[in-house]
Amino acid sequence: MIGGVQNLVAPRDKSDTVFGRRLRQNLLHKVWGMDSIWTSELVEQLSALWKQGLSTAEIGRKLGISKNAVVGKAHRLMLTPRPSPLKSPPIRHVAGKAGPTCSWPHGHPGQTGFRFCGKRVVPGKPYCPEHAAMAYIQPKERKVQAA
Ligand SMILES: [Zn+2]
Repeated sequence: MIGGVQNLVAPRDKSDTVFGRRLRQNLLHKVWGMDSIWTSELVEQLSALWKQGLSTAEIGRKLGISKNAVVGKAHRLMLTPRPSPLKSPPIRHVAGKAGPTCSWPHGHPGQTGFRFCGKRVVPGKPYCPEHAAMAYIQPKERKVQAA
């Protein structure tokens, strides 16, 4: 009977309960023993430094942890939705920052030499004129039609 088989093979529903999720999280913490060093404060600092484009070695030195711990945690936090210049970069407006600089990435986060462009941005855009032109390619026809 198909119905009977489905009842037997339904562990997915169980794991979606709050209890199941908590169980999995506890399990993860045990598996990743390193996680004990990661206070929420430390995670925040890691995220901040990571976004500034510091190398993993530099972040590790600043936070007093190993480079491997930084790499591992960053990977698990999935801190790398880094835009490839070939794909469409995310349009992010950095508010409340004095002297915003171009956040166009050069290189790959986690590798030495990774950095952001850092030039003065076009007002209201997250990129310098050069990179803004690459990020926002506006069809000229639209302007003509609107006029
Ligand atoms: Zn730039």
